[in-house]
Amino acid sequence: MMNNILIIGAHYDDSELGVGGTAAKLAAQGKNVYKLTLTDNVTYSAHLHIDVAYETSVSESARACEVLGVKEITEFQPVECCQLFYNTEIMQRVEDTIYKYNIDTVFMHYTDDLNQDHISASKICLTAARHCPNILMYQSNQYILAKPYYPSLFFDISDYIDKKREALYQYTGDHNRYNALFETTIEKNHIWGYSNHCSYAEGFVVHKFRL
Ligand SMILES: [Zn+2]
Repeated sequence: MMNNILIIGAHYDDSELGVGGTAAKLAAQGKNVYKLTLTDNVTYSAHLHIDVAYETSVSESARACEVLGVKEITEFQPVECCQLFYNTEIMQRVEDTIYKYNIDTVFMHYTDDLNQDHISASKICLTAARHCPNILMYQSNQYILAKPYYPSLFFDISDYIDKKREALYQYTGDHNRYNALFETTIEKNHIWGYSNHCSYAEGFVVHKFRL
């Protein structure tokens, strides 16, 4: 049962990177697909040559959602990037959002990620979504994590890979890390497609899933 789906990301592009094709597919099937972002995405690192601003992230996210047919939740006040930590206040705000939109399926960050915002988002979401029938985890970065990311549930997104790519390229500048993250992500979708006898697939780690 997947009717009201919520994709939760720590940063604006996490949802498109991890779940973009699946989001477009479910939206095309008439499901309600929502997106929630927990931080303001402001990132500056001279060392890593990364510079991402809030206002552009917001407008680019809106365009990406339009491409995918996703409804973005904008009333949620994001916290400062890199300052996302589990606490009761933010967990309950996410929980309230889940109840408000009658969410049955949550896509959330993988619990053994290594980005600190992703780790916090995962912890917050796992508690906030504990009463949802379906909880699926995604990976939005492509580095080696604390524990291997080994997906076991796959969505065939062959017909939606163009929409995923179009949504990703709404994000400009350093969202596309080293000018390679978007295409690397799509290549991984290609590999998972091969594993599943289709062209492109997104893969998820199942926390729980009710048929
Ligand atoms: Zn992220």
